[in-house]
Amino acid sequence: MLKAFKFRLYPSAPQADFLVRSFGCVRKVYNLMLNDRIEAYKKHRETGEPIKLPTPAQYKKEYPFLKEVDSLALCNAQLHLKAAYNHFFRHPSSGFPKWKSRKHPVQSYTTNNQNGTIAIVAGRYLKLPKMEPVRIKLHRQLQGQIKSATISRTATGKYFVSILCETKVEAKTLTGSVIGMDLGVTSFAAFSDGTKVQNPKHLVKTSDRLSKAQRKLSRRALQAQKEGRLLAGSRNYQKQRILVAKLHEKIANQRNDFQNKLSTELVNNHDVICVETLNVTGLVRNHRLARSLQDVSWSAFLSKLTYKAEWYGKQVIRVGRWFPSSQLCSACGHRDGKKGLHIREWSCPSCGTTHDRDVNASRNIRTEGLHLLNETAQI
Ligand SMILES: [Zn+2]
Repeated sequence: MLKAFKFRLYPSAPQADFLVRSFGCVRKVYNLMLNDRIEAYKKHRETGEPIKLPTPAQYKKEYPFLKEVDSLALCNAQLHLKAAYNHFFRHPSSGFPKWKSRKHPVQSYTTNNQNGTIAIVAGRYLKLPKMEPVRIKLHRQLQGQIKSATISRTATGKYFVSILCETKVEAKTLTGSVIGMDLGVTSFAAFSDGTKVQNPKHLVKTSDRLSKAQRKLSRRALQAQKEGRLLAGSRNYQKQRILVAKLHEKIANQRNDFQNKLSTELVNNHDVICVETLNVTGLVRNHRLARSLQDVSWSAFLSKLTYKAEWYGKQVIRVGRWFPSSQLCSACGHRDGKKGLHIREWSCPSCGTTHDRDVNASRNIRTEGLHLLNETAQI
């Protein structure tokens, strides 16, 4: 089983310099290979010449500075490009592989461990190929064997490393419990045992601050435009841009913490967790900030829940998105028709039970999930 561990890095100024150069080289090689693949394909269509896939080594002569950085990082650029193509072939609607931009807020590169080229030294340093060990804040112990490391730099200039380790994970003891979960609008989620989990207050607060800060940022952009100034030279705009980036990072951290705790708790306490399948295309179309943050948050949560369930020998069952979870009465099965989002509570006309909208939905999701589980067990 592969498990990733993320730590903050504190490179010295020359080390940071080297890392930035490495991001640049990886980006360069990626874009060169993408360009050559496009050209090779064009030629293949015109003349029938077979497509020869480019390799990072072929560029070193023309761009000697590529030799200064970790060659495994360049190899990984090749793998990443291959993965991007494969993803495009499988899901053409996701779009053709894109160019890597120097302006992208997050830059990164990945390198592999070859007989200890990546290692923790003296508990406070990370050894990486082609550079002096970098200060690392090791807030938790690594488990297993280091496979690879991805070094990244965030929009606010912080450095992180995500270390991928091969490790054995023990299955958790079974509890015999099955739970249904409805991802809510007013609360983060409602559960079939009648409980609800709210979005943490500090997260809501930071989201509000972010909306305000983003409005201010667009006003600053407009102001600069009116006065005919370039954004790059507008100090107030740049200050605000960094503030917005910091708030984005803060939200991401707070959300990750919350989701890690909740998903761990769920796989600890239940064997089967039934959830809805999210309508991803519908989510992307939603432009309102608060909602789009919520949507991103749900899919990130479900992926955490799914991989943890897999690690620990538990199951996540996805109920189809056309399943009418909010229309059925979970007590008697009566189908009561569509309900607008404003209806938070309703009484079943058939059996008279009063339902909380979200808890009722989660109970239906649980029932449907169990149904699906039994069906697959029979096959
Ligand atoms: Zn009923």
